[in-house]
Amino acid sequence: MSTGTTTIRHWISGSLTDAGSTRTSPVYNPATGQVAAEVLLAEAADVERAVDAAWEAFPAWSQTSISARTKIMFGFRELLNANAGRLAEAITDEHGKVLSDALGEVQRGLEVVEFACGIPSLLKGDYSDQVSSGVDTFSFREPLGVVAGITPFNFPAMVPMWMFPVAIACGNTFVLKPSERDPSASLVIAELWRQAGLPDGVFNVVHGDKVAVDAILDSPRVAAVSFVGSTPIARYIHERGSANGKRVQALGGAKNHAIVMPDADIDFAADHLSAAAFGSAGERCMAISAAVAVGSGADLVVEAVSARARAVKVGPGREAGSDMGPVVTREAQQRIVGLIGSGEEQGAEVAVDGRGLVVPGHEDGFFVGPTVIDRVGTEMDVYTQEIFGPVLSVVRADDADEAIALINANPYGNGTAIFTSSGEAARRFQRGVNVGMIGINVPVPVPMAFYSFGGWKDSLFGDKHVHGPEGVSFYTRAKVVTARWPEQAQASGASLHFPTSS
Ligand code: NAD
Repeated sequence: MSTGTTTIRHWISGSLTDAGSTRTSPVYNPATGQVAAEVLLAEAADVERAVDAAWEAFPAWSQTSISARTKIMFGFRELLNANAGRLAEAITDEHGKVLSDALGEVQRGLEVVEFACGIPSLLKGDYSDQVSSGVDTFSFREPLGVVAGITPFNFPAMVPMWMFPVAIACGNTFVLKPSERDPSASLVIAELWRQAGLPDGVFNVVHGDKVAVDAILDSPRVAAVSFVGSTPIARYIHERGSANGKRVQALGGAKNHAIVMPDADIDFAADHLSAAAFGSAGERCMAISAAVAVGSGADLVVEAVSARARAVKVGPGREAGSDMGPVVTREAQQRIVGLIGSGEEQGAEVAVDGRGLVVPGHEDGFFVGPTVIDRVGTEMDVYTQEIFGPVLSVVRADDADEAIALINANPYGNGTAIFTSSGEAARRFQRGVNVGMIGINVPVPVPMAFYSFGGWKDSLFGDKHVHGPEGVSFYTRAKVVTARWPEQAQASGASLHFPTSS
């Protein structure tokens, strides 16, 4: 462990702890390129300590009345709202995104907390009176036990909040393994839970890498795992977690296309394409990374979006006036720059080139400027790979059918959008694409918290989307009771035939 820098510790059973593993990983400030802290990387035994805490807390928490749980949820909501600025700063300092964007992330997470405050309604069961003579049937849902969340770097507050508010409100206890690249937001959240009165052990945070993840996947006391991250890891999590008998939802990567039809308002489309491609430096799973320009208007689309790309002000996330911050690490910066180069070598035209961008005073920051690559072919690396940077590839298609076929041929199916003024084209698109989340003149169609979030194909392994009704379903299991209360005089002898209604 290095000395002189802050060590980011685990949160187990209501307090910070650094007992256990001494392995660490550097956490950078991407705007300066400097190491800001070291984060502990848990060994399997550290994960087990967190699981112990969650396991011990589960009986009391799951038996806590729904109204008492709801009060804590409301308290947490108030604290989160009051501390949104502090949380956003923690995100910006380690992720790099601009503060307004970090605040937006907190807001979207807050909406899931608000959804979970409605848990008394969400957990209502069904009741059928007199299904047979003197027999009633009713159903209700119970929490699973200890559940875990493994989350990516790009939304260090929002993605965990897709998971734990619903899981905890349902009566589960939670172990979060956040990204080791930007771990501090999770600890701000843990502290807010404590202040809200959540009993110790209900929410725990273990930092770490593959060692911690594998310990979660192999722990027999973890009943369910929610994962969000890249596709290869999502597939792995789903396979290993499922093989160990767990319920698993694993959301993977994305390559989101936006079709621009010839009848679209080009300025409107270009404004939104630029925001969707370059917002958060393209490090959003719902970023638009491929624009499919249909028909004769393609040159106009490239021109309009290029003008907007050049106008984006790139700078440190904390600086007022920055529209876009750095990417998360030096490796990410180098990978993105390399992919832009590969596009050029493979025959695409770099219309706006973000390579070599230097932000004065932040020469060591991990910056890449907004980039537009025109005439991208589907065989090129910039198209086949998830770039996860501020790069918009423009692919040209002759008509809507070709554009839809292109989207459906892609292995990912997270989000997609169409810009058009034709209701008929929009309807054909919404019915024709094999994608989970669809925008019509909305480029980043992230569902509200009371719907569920999730993609199709290689963007999701498992059959439940996160938060919303599917989140409640994922974190609970059903019981159905068939009950008879016979009066003494009516008690009759049992029959051996298969019971039917009478
Ligand atoms: P990642 O897959 O590298 O990491 C995600 C989590 O998995 C982290 O907690 C990390 O510590 C852990 N991990 C990394 N390598 C591992 C390994 N070999 N074995 C076990 N665990 C491992 O993803 P990232 O770079 O942090 O995040 C970006 C990715 O997440 C992108 O692909 C993006 O599309 C995706 N993402 C998807 C969604 C969605 O809703 N589908 C949302 C956000 C991000």
